[in-house]
Amino acid sequence: MSSKESLPAGPNPSEPGETSPLHSIAQFTHGYEEEGRLLGYACRSCGFHTLTYLLVCPRCGEPHSLEDHPFSGEGRVLSYTLQYVPSDEFVNEAPYAYALIELAEGVRTSGWLPAVKRAEDLAVGDRVVWTKSYRSGLVFERSPEGGGGPRARGPDV
Ligand SMILES: [Zn+2]
Repeated sequence: MSSKESLPAGPNPSEPGETSPLHSIAQFTHGYEEEGRLLGYACRSCGFHTLTYLLVCPRCGEPHSLEDHPFSGEGRVLSYTLQYVPSDEFVNEAPYAYALIELAEGVRTSGWLPAVKRAEDLAVGDRVVWTKSYRSGLVFERSPEGGGGPRARGPDV
């Protein structure tokens, strides 16, 4: 049986008066899969950005102040490693790059780049863009405007 009921407003029955839109996996997945956008949150009090829903803004301390905020998906690689022995879920993708990425909004996140098969194909500082994918996790690819050559402006190693 597949009763398609709407989800409750939030998993927080301890606050009957509060009906703030708590993070729901369904919402996130919808934005992610249906609309092809990277959905994060922004604090309406201080502008703090995050990809993770939090009950209290860690910067200004305002409770229930985080609202949906679509991210641009653009970022740059801060660090990365090549995964040759991944977990079961990614076994068919290896090798790939697992990267620490700073998004244009200043938020740091981890993600992976399935197209990167060799260390020479990516460099710290490379521009990347989040891409909609059926795969798990945050999938990125090198930004088309990130430069022509693989090592166009690589850092001194
Ligand atoms: Zn705040």
